[in-house]
Amino acid sequence: MVGGGPGSFIGKIHTKSAQLDSQIELVCGAFDVDPANSKLQGKEYYLDPSRAYDTFQEMISKEKDLPEGRRMDFLSITTPNHVHFEPARLALENGFHVVSDKPLTNNTEDARKLVRLVEETGLVFAVTHAYTGYPMVKEAKEIIRSGRLGKIRKVVSEYPQGWLSTPLENTGHMQASWRLDPAMSGKSNCMGDIGTHALNLCEYITGLKVTQVCADISIMVEGRKLDDDGNVLVRFDNAARGIIYASQISAGEENGLKIRVYGEKGGLEWIQVEPNTLIVKWLDKPIEHIRPGNPWCSDLAKYNTRFPAGHPEGLIEAFGNIYRNVATCIQHRLEGKEPPAEALDFPTVYDGLRGMQFIDSVIASAESENKWTKFLE
Ligand code: NAD
Repeated sequence: MVGGGPGSFIGKIHTKSAQLDSQIELVCGAFDVDPANSKLQGKEYYLDPSRAYDTFQEMISKEKDLPEGRRMDFLSITTPNHVHFEPARLALENGFHVVSDKPLTNNTEDARKLVRLVEETGLVFAVTHAYTGYPMVKEAKEIIRSGRLGKIRKVVSEYPQGWLSTPLENTGHMQASWRLDPAMSGKSNCMGDIGTHALNLCEYITGLKVTQVCADISIMVEGRKLDDDGNVLVRFDNAARGIIYASQISAGEENGLKIRVYGEKGGLEWIQVEPNTLIVKWLDKPIEHIRPGNPWCSDLAKYNTRFPAGHPEGLIEAFGNIYRNVATCIQHRLEGKEPPAEALDFPTVYDGLRGMQFIDSVIASAESENKWTKFLE
């Protein structure tokens, strides 16, 4: 792992969820920008001290020299956005598979380079848009794919948070500080940080692609260089219309990712803080509440459910589904076999690239007088 040092956020979720199914073991890390903290973190994980490295460059070079079977099989990248590309590039060039957090990089040119490297090396590359790992998100995808809602006409994918309602970045807050710094975050804060999740969720569930955007991006807290709120009207490739919005100044909101999709015959609704319930609405019959672990769930939802009905699953399990699928793919590769189709169901480098293109498109639209802007592929 790179990142995930003391006091960090998402690296800790990665280590727990990766090891959930006992297919993955944490064997080494360059956990922190400060080498002393990397050592401390390694000690906390009871790692061999020689494998808590000072830098990711040292880690990749030394791991490569270890015998097969002892060296790491893949690298998890859980650092701020400006430290995604370099470890990913080095890992791929040295034959290691990659699981990277989003946004894929902090600029689209680097994202394209990673796509090329993945295509050249054939290595596994997952991007942790982990909300698509929830069983009820899979169920929503399968309901739409089966045609039960009819042709999709409208999609609302919203991601309100309230934690940046005040200038938290000026207080030394670790996660806020780098997110509001263009040198580390990239050209967007809010749209890159959580707007990309809202895009990925709606494209995954509906199977549709955004083709045009009309965006209004704002800085609501004075003194910031990057957006903290944004509203985007979108058009999809089947002519459906939609709204994607992301906000970090929606005071009082926690992590309110929510999606609503409406077709000709019915609609569905899923909200991240209640992930085990999918609400399906019909024109001609009562609302249904679908929960995981039941026999009427789709095979895809069942494959991604660990517990019997009524035993709630959460974020660790959703992340764990990405890691379980990655582990299955790598295992098959090591054995010279093709992975089963269900194991290929995780966000890839192409989803990461779309996230970067979404950021570009939204910013281009926000800056243009025309407003409606073609999705920049
Ligand atoms: P954080 O600030 O909490 O942690 C970042 C960690 O990376 C720290 O331990 C820091 O010391 C380490 N680091 C920085 N530079 C390093 C380097 N050169 N070598 C080794 N370690 C280094 O950040 P966070 O909030 O956990 O976010 C990390 C990434 O995860 C971001 O890209 C963010 O967008 C993404 N993220 C994704 C999700 C999700 O749901 N998938 C949620 C939160 C954050």
